[in-house]
Amino acid sequence: MNEVVVGHDREPRKVTKEEFELRKPPADLLDEWQKRLFLDGWYIKLEVNVQPEDMFLDGCAGCTRSGEVTEVAIIQIIDPHRYEGIIPFDFEVTLVHELLHLKLGLLDDDPESEKESLAYRLLHRYIDELARALVDAQRSK
Ligand SMILES: [Zn+2]
Repeated sequence: MNEVVVGHDREPRKVTKEEFELRKPPADLLDEWQKRLFLDGWYIKLEVNVQPEDMFLDGCAGCTRSGEVTEVAIIQIIDPHRYEGIIPFDFEVTLVHELLHLKLGLLDDDPESEKESLAYRLLHRYIDELARALVDAQRSK
C-alpha cells in the first residue's frame, strides 16, 4: 500500500513496542541463528543499541566487520531510537541480515569495490529478502 505524506514531521521518532519486543535476549537470538545458519565456527561479538556515529557505516540498521579467514566478526545493531529507515526497525531481521553477510560474504569477490557493482547490489537485496523470509518462517511456527 502506498502512503502519502504531507510536509515533514521533525518530531523525534516514536519507537513502537513491537520494535523492542524480542523473542529472546539478543545473545540467545545470536546463538539460535548462528546455529541455524551453520555459522557455529564463527566467533561473533554482538554490539546492540549502537549510536549511528559509532557504527562502521552510515545509514545502516546493522553493520558487520569480519575476517573471513579467521571467522571472527563484530556485528553492530543500531539503537532503535536512532533508526531512521523507511520500514519499521526489526532487531531479529537485522541480525539475520548481518549473519547472512558472513554466510555469503565470499560471493562478494571484489571487496575493494565501492559496493556499487550490480552483483553486490543484487547480493545485498537477496540477503535482505532471505533474512525477512527466514524470520517470518520462524515466527509463523
Ligand atoms: Zn547489508
